[in-house]
Formats: sequence, structure tokens, C-alpha cells
Amino acid sequence: MKQTTPPKTYRVKSFGCQMNVYDGERMAELLAEKGITPAPEGEDADLVVLNTCHIREKAAEKVYSDIGRIAKAGEEAGKKPLIAVAGCVAQAEGEEIMARAPAVSMVVGPQAYHRLPAMLDRAVKGERATDTDMPANAKFAELPQRRKSAPSAFLTIQEGCDKFCTYCVVPYTRGAEISRPFVELVEEAKRLVAAGAKEITLLGQNVSAWSGENERGHRVGLAGLVAELAKDPDLARIRYTTSHPADMDEDIIEAHGSIAKLMPYLHLPVQSGSDRVLKAMNRSHTAESYLKLLERFRAARPDLALSGDFIVGFPGETEAEFEDTLKIVDEVRYAAAFSFKYSPRPGTPAATMDGQVAPEVMDERLQRLQAALRRDQMAFNEASVGKTCQVLVERRGKKPGQWLGKSPWLQSVWFEGDALIGDLVQAELLEAGQNSLAARLREGALA
Ligand code: SAM
Ligand code: SF4
Repeated sequence: MKQTTPPKTYRVKSFGCQMNVYDGERMAELLAEKGITPAPEGEDADLVVLNTCHIREKAAEKVYSDIGRIAKAGEEAGKKPLIAVAGCVAQAEGEEIMARAPAVSMVVGPQAYHRLPAMLDRAVKGERATDTDMPANAKFAELPQRRKSAPSAFLTIQEGCDKFCTYCVVPYTRGAEISRPFVELVEEAKRLVAAGAKEITLLGQNVSAWSGENERGHRVGLAGLVAELAKDPDLARIRYTTSHPADMDEDIIEAHGSIAKLMPYLHLPVQSGSDRVLKAMNRSHTAESYLKLLERFRAARPDLALSGDFIVGFPGETEAEFEDTLKIVDEVRYAAAFSFKYSPRPGTPAATMDGQVAPEVMDERLQRLQAALRRDQMAFNEASVGKTCQVLVERRGKKPGQWLGKSPWLQSVWFEGDALIGDLVQAELLEAGQNSLAARLREGALA
């Protein structure tokens, strides 16, 4: 590769989970420290960071088509943009990317992106570099302090996973489960709040496994961290995601009943309603133990909105086993959900299991599942009509005077009136749609 001029503008494109959104923000902060600014909307950037996702095949394939498109657009404009591939595809397929995509000059894994600025200096000199080291927690100390925040901010508190569900690449791409230290998290949360955050979502591949030591040297779990963050008078809302049913303890259940700032929303993936499939997935819970756990959460917080993840067509899944998944949906009545067709991931045990399900069977099952999930989401939204609730205003709507925000149950709410981004307003929910609700501001609406 030839020497190039240092980039003046960047674009970070994040795919996949919210942890990638968080990592993307942190990489943008690193680039800003080097004096590189975000490329204006609609303009090509001198440096593009593709922050990738490896969870399903489709997500991984997108990376190669994006690289081709960026390189071609650069060629047509007589430029050669620098391309960095970050995230889980970088971790899993670093060498392959370097061999397959000569336009890429940097490949950096999710635990090594604090070294992106140094890699960039080398890329400008014409060198290509790969860094997929996994030094646990090392990057956080080297990232710049948080100076900017949207009203709703993400905070990664835990990374990696030791659960080894048989379909999942996360334990291989994100590494072993590690918790960030309590004091560091309290500090980062304070900075986010000082920068304008009203809501913080605590993130982790398995956030309920977080544990740390508070400033008095006592062991605390997720509930203890939530309680500490809730003490900040300028922080109004706390959420967390994603949890594993096996790690939900009594403290976090109680926290939903006793900490008003902990929002009434729980994302608790079940994946399947069949105990045989759950065992083959190595999920360590049954359909019944999952339902019992939800009952305890609902007893602590009766208005809790529930959300889940589902996989259809896991190897060997029969029609009857798939119907068990529909049964669990009928029982729980989720307010929101994410559902996927099983995608074999290289190196995972399920990829070589017998009984891989035909794509057309998966398609048909996914459609039936999604119809049931849509039905329940609509019913949940309709049942909210008439309620007056707090809405955190996150952005302007398409029409002048229109605003968009989130209810405590994570529903998108839009209204017209006098508001500002970051306001917490009281709004009456008037009309339900599949993905959002229309609302009206209440008198003296600032909450
Ligand atoms: N740690 C979380 C948990 O225990 O459920 C979720 C992490 S994963 C990033 C998000 C979701 O992707 C999973 O809950 C699962 O539904 C889905 N997923 C993971 N691997 C998959 C695969 N090989 N095929 C299809 N969906 C998959
Ligand atoms: Fe993947 Fe979640 Fe299972 Fe961990 S617990 S292996 S992240 S699905």
C-alpha cells in the first residue's frame, strides 16, 4: 500500500448489538482526539471504520460488500479512503479479511481498538496491520474521558461470555467473561450525566453476571451497581441488557420493585420453548424455570414490559418443538422481541450437529413466530393507551414541532408541542401503532 495523506474526516459504521454502538462511540472519541472530524452527512469520509457483527452469516457477509462499495466510490471520486475493519468479524476472520480485501489497511478486534490511533499512523505510511489481542479490560483505561452524550447513553459494564451456548460465536469473538471495576463505572456514569445523559443503559453480553467491589471493599452484583448509580440526582433512568436467565438473582428482582429509576423493562432471552432444544443449546434453563423466573419479576414489578430473543430452526428442531416456542410466547405475551433463523457459525458445536433444518422450514416458522410476537406487541401498545407517563425526548420527528422519545416501557412515543431534546415530559398516550404510540403533552409537562 502507498503512503497517503492523514485523514481529515471519518465515519464509523456500527452493525449488530448495542455493545458495538458503544464501541463505535468510543472509537469516534479516539479519532476526535487526533483532530479527525465526522464526515458531513452525504459526503464520503477519508477514513471509514466498519464496526462489524459476526452473530449471523448475513451480518458477516455485509462487511465484504461494504468494503467493495467504499473502495469503488473512492476510486470513482479519485480518492483512496482508508478502511478499518473492527468488531467481531475482525476478531474472527482478521487474516481472511486482509487476504480477501486489499482495500482494508487496518483490522482491529473489540478488545484492541484503543490502539486504533497508532494503527492509523502506520496505515498513513502505507503499512497494513492486524491487532486482535484480547487484553482483558486494558482498553478502558486508555480511552479518552467521556465528553459528549445523547440523552440516552450506553455504558458497557461487562464483556465476553463463559456460557458457550452451542450456536453462539460470542465466547470466541469477545472472549472470556470480564467485569469492569465498580469505581471506573461510577466515574464513567457521572461523566455521561455531566455531558447530558438522563438515561443510562448498562450493557454486557451477559450483564447479569457483572460483579465488582464497591469503594468499601464489599462484593456487589448488578443490583448493587444499579443502586449506586441511582443515587445521582441528575440521572433519571437506568436500564440494563442483555441478561441470562441463569444469572438473575433475588437482588436484581427486588431492585425492580424498590428502585424507581430502574425502568420497568426486562430483556430476557429464552431462545426456545422446548426443553430438548434448550438442552442441546446448552442454555441451562428449562421453559418452566424461565416462566417461574418471570413470575418473580412480575410480582416485584407488575407493570414490567418483557422482551426476549428467539431462534427458530436450531438443528433437530421438530414441528412440535417449534410449537413449544409458540406456547411460551402465548404464555408470556412479550411487549417486544427479536427473532432469528438459526445461522450456523464456524467453530461452534451446533454448526456440525445432525438435523440442520431446511431454509424454507425456517422461513415458515419465523413467519409464524413473528406474527404471534407482532400480535402481542400491538396488544401491549393498545393496553397502554390512556396512560399518562414520563417520556424522555430523544430527537425531533419528521414534521416541524414533532418530537420522539421513549416511554418507561421502551416504547417509541411521538407528540407535537413545546419540548427540547433531553426533556423528561409527562405525556398521555393516545393511539397505538405496531412500533410507536402517539401522545399529547400534559399541562405543565416537564416531569
Ligand atoms: N447474551 C445474550 C443471551 O444470552 O441471549 C444474547 C447475545 S447475542 C449477541 C443476541 C442474540 O442473537 C441471541 O440471544 C440469539 O437469539 C441470537 N443468536 C446468537 N447466535 C445465533 C445464531 N448462530 N443464529 C441465530 N441467532 C443467533
Ligand atoms: Fe452467546 Fe448469550 Fe449464550 Fe453467551 S449467553 S453464548 S452471548 S447467547
